[in-house]
Amino acid sequence: MIWSGKKYWITGAFHLLGVFLFSGLANLKAEEGMWIPMLIEKYQIEHMQEAGLRLSAEDIYSINRDCLKDAIVIFGRGCTGEMISDEGLLLTNHHCGEGAVQSHSSVENDYLTNGYWAMSREEELPNENLSVTYLRYIKEVTTEVTEGFIQGMDPQVRERMVNESMGKIIQSATSGTHLEAVVKPFYYGNEYYLFVYEVFRDIRLVGAPPVAIGNFGADQDNWMWPRHTGDFSLFRVYAGKENEPATYDPSNKPYKPRKHLEIAAGGIEEGDFTMILGYPGSTTQYLYSDAVKLMLDKSLPLKIQLRTTRLEIMDRYMKSSDKVRIQYATKYRGVSNAWKKWQGIILGLNRMEAVEKKIEEERAFQQWVDADGERQLKYGGLMDQFTQDYSDIVQYSVAIDLMGEAIEPVELFRQVSRMKGMMRQGVPVELLKNQVERFYKDFYLPIDLEVFAAMMAACREHMADSFLPSFFMEINGKYKGDFYRFAKETYRNSIFSDKNQVIKLLDIYHKNPENAIKQLMKDPMSIYMDQFRELYMVGVNPVYYQLQHELEKSYQTYMAALLEMSADRLLYPDANFSMRLTYGNIHGYRPWDGVQYQFSTTLSGLMEKGTEDFEDYRVPDKLVQLYTEKDYGRYGVEGTMPVCFIASNHTSGGNSGSPVLDADGRLIGINFDRNWEGTMSDIYYDPSLCRNIAVDIRYVLFIVDKFAGAGYLLDEMKITW
Ligand code: ASP
Repeated sequence: MIWSGKKYWITGAFHLLGVFLFSGLANLKAEEGMWIPMLIEKYQIEHMQEAGLRLSAEDIYSINRDCLKDAIVIFGRGCTGEMISDEGLLLTNHHCGEGAVQSHSSVENDYLTNGYWAMSREEELPNENLSVTYLRYIKEVTTEVTEGFIQGMDPQVRERMVNESMGKIIQSATSGTHLEAVVKPFYYGNEYYLFVYEVFRDIRLVGAPPVAIGNFGADQDNWMWPRHTGDFSLFRVYAGKENEPATYDPSNKPYKPRKHLEIAAGGIEEGDFTMILGYPGSTTQYLYSDAVKLMLDKSLPLKIQLRTTRLEIMDRYMKSSDKVRIQYATKYRGVSNAWKKWQGIILGLNRMEAVEKKIEEERAFQQWVDADGERQLKYGGLMDQFTQDYSDIVQYSVAIDLMGEAIEPVELFRQVSRMKGMMRQGVPVELLKNQVERFYKDFYLPIDLEVFAAMMAACREHMADSFLPSFFMEINGKYKGDFYRFAKETYRNSIFSDKNQVIKLLDIYHKNPENAIKQLMKDPMSIYMDQFRELYMVGVNPVYYQLQHELEKSYQTYMAALLEMSADRLLYPDANFSMRLTYGNIHGYRPWDGVQYQFSTTLSGLMEKGTEDFEDYRVPDKLVQLYTEKDYGRYGVEGTMPVCFIASNHTSGGNSGSPVLDADGRLIGINFDRNWEGTMSDIYYDPSLCRNIAVDIRYVLFIVDKFAGAGYLLDEMKITW
């Protein structure tokens, strides 16, 4: 599954490494953990109450009565949202709602730049393809799924059996209802849980601040603290006559959720208890030390280097032309997001000495195994097996990284593959022409040509010789290793360099699809891409996926052993985009020796950053005016306006838009990011360094009321001061 932008998704490579591990018991820290809401009653509630929580487990998750979980939703496909009124009003991040805002924007009505505020229900804008998903209940189904399993069975056979059982469980949970369901593996397939959902599809845009507020700081501040971003947007869920899910219809009514969050606008203090309910996407806390080493020594440095090259090329051309700057702005952001995060991960893992700590944990694990004959039989060879598999996988894993970060990023490669695929499926010519128009609108050939040259050179440098396609011989021979000359010649000969030629090809396709496909296959970009594909299919993928299966099996066993070791069940399962609860405290942190970060920021800090000369830090005039007049209404505190804060909740991508709740379960902020020094938390969490970043709810209310003049929306919220 591909996740875009800053939402849930860390890029695929960790999964591709078969990163299926667990974190050692010895190092589980107080704030660490993403807990299954259904199980907090059994394992977590006492710790939470000791930490300051004033609610019962039933207040948070219950199937017998309305509770906090009923106010939390999956927003779209990769974010979290929360209900804040009994009339369907929903809060999420700006970066989660941005797609919807953009889809309503035009040059005349640029809502992205100027913001959008519905001043009445009639002005709320419907959004095709946007959904909001409520969790109705969770049920453990391990026994049903694992029936018939045999110890050590082939993972592929096991997978088939699992899929069949899951299908049946889902069928019986949903048939005859309008509910939807999914069964997810936990602890590397040692446990399975069923999640039953109700999905609403009439979701309307209510309000979003200008991007200069909603994404203030943009790339510059991304993954960073201190932060000054008003990263929020408002939507409303609509339902049919009986309050049931319905597709868009003007006569639909605002949905009455089972529960909505009360808002606590009375302020926060350092040390306050906080918790988050939301949908973290994917973490790999239980990696074997060699997997982390591979990530640190090879995978991340290579991927960072490849992206640095691409960013430099884009930046050079973007600086020389406004047109190119606009064409490549989103692409640039997409590339730099993970690029920045990966650097933070390397820094954090090295600082934490994560590899060394894992080695220690693995030693302790081995001792535990060696101390008992039965354990030796079950788990004896595990560590050696990991070591062997990770040493075998290195060159394949590098090849997979190169596919994702050097070959696929070449835009013409992607365009050729897309065209070929669509032609083979017989997609109507008008649709193909539309796609072509869209593609070339934001395509600048000199950038792609240079990227192609640089990425092919990188393949040459990093790929095992036996994986290199035969066109590299031509580069060595005819072009004497000059990748740029080779790229120029290739792009000169490819019809895909020129939109008009592609349109001509589509005219041929219209009359004779077979002919068009034949012609396309002769294009040099198509030939080179096919050569890569063939080599991967024969030389890379089979071995790579075989090793992955073996690793999967080992991780499953490893996890089973860890659960056995941890009888008190302090191990939490890796994130898998199911609802989780995490708790911590509001806290600053010490990023470097001699530096202490405070836990919150204010509007004065935003103004200090503000400048007309740098797009990331432009401040809307109205906000400047409110600041100058200190016109903060009830939302300010002693002449300042709080903007963002940090806490030690263990979050991940997908937690964007999640509510940050106080000890009474009231909303105090909206989660939207993490700090750079703590981005390694998906692999190794450290409470002294890892922080989630939230926009303070008072800033949200201030922007809605004072900035946007949409204060009427506050009337339907329950706010305590
Ligand atoms: N920015 C992330 C998201 O969009 C949250 C995170 O990674 O902490 O889900």
